[in-house]
Amino acid sequence: RAKADVSRAVCFYEPGMDEAARDRRALANDLRQAIERGELALHYQVQTSVPTGEIRGYEALLRWKHPERGMIPPAEFIPVAEENGSILAIGEWVLRTACRQAAAWDNTHKIAVNLSPVQFAHVDLARLVHEVLLETGLAPKRLELELTESTIIADKARTLHALRRIKALGVTVAIDDFGTGYSSLDTLRSFPFDKIKLDRSFMADVERSPQAKAIIRAVLTLGRSLEIPVLAEGVETQMQLSILQVEGCNEAQGYLLGRPRPIDEIDLAEAADDGAAAEPVFAAGQRR
Ligand code: C2E
Ligand code: MG
Ligand code: MG
Ligand code: MG
Repeated sequence: RAKADVSRAVCFYEPGMDEAARDRRALANDLRQAIERGELALHYQVQTSVPTGEIRGYEALLRWKHPERGMIPPAEFIPVAEENGSILAIGEWVLRTACRQAAAWDNTHKIAVNLSPVQFAHVDLARLVHEVLLETGLAPKRLELELTESTIIADKARTLHALRRIKALGVTVAIDDFGTGYSSLDTLRSFPFDKIKLDRSFMADVERSPQAKAIIRAVLTLGRSLEIPVLAEGVETQMQLSILQVEGCNEAQGYLLGRPRPIDEIDLAEAADDGAAAEPVFAAGQRR
């Protein structure tokens, strides 16, 4: 994944690897122009309260429609963007676009935006966030930033300093993919996160694995003790949702509640504050 590995791959004798390296380089070049060409878009996925079924917010998820290759998933192009530095411009575009679109919504839902460790390393993020909030007029409390543990591990002192300044603006911060990193508990001790997003791998296994269920239960207990709400990622079935209700999970996100959708497909009537309030969470799942 590091730059060095890619260039070294060219020296191997397998012709396939040579091709893969060239392919990656071509993708990196295309990516630099993706913003200007208008090939990037944000999709939005709903985040729902488990006990009430109310919509709490939407997570912005980046999509790249490549002119020849079609839709390329973020897992494929974000590592490339992080390597060649284009993640800085892309990340800024994501933040600005998400805040602008959310500010135009006729509701008070949160908008969650993912951040890359590279952004923390190279940009004064607190300042950028502050600028974007002023520019778009979005209320700070409606913005939630999501970061993974790898971000904190990369440069702990610098990241924590930036996060404190970001929180001082009134913006909230969530730890993403919780449970898959190396130092989950230390991460929680280091910084007052506003939300724990439990990685979807636990949800995927919960119906057949007592271990996964025990871990979910433990994280929910931890969240309650630390007074940090827990959101379960990757909720795909009614059974998973019922387990979360019984175990007292705060929020859920997943295909059952809604797939990531382009802005114009988000039903703003559905998303309106009082429209969703009375909606029972099971009906929310079936409405899909
Ligand atoms: P993430 O932040 O953990 O986002 C959740 C991912 O899980 C999304 O994948 C979403 O489409 C997928 N997902 C949601 N519900 C379900 C479900 O019920 N089942 C399954 N199997 N998957 C579900 P996506 O959109 O492909 O994004 C993948 C990752 O790419 C994100 O993981 C995030 O780490 C990164 N990413 C996406 N957008 C951005 C961005 O704007 N900036 C940065 N730095 N990273 C981003
Ligand atoms: Mg996320
Ligand atoms: Mg996640
Ligand atoms: Mg993820």
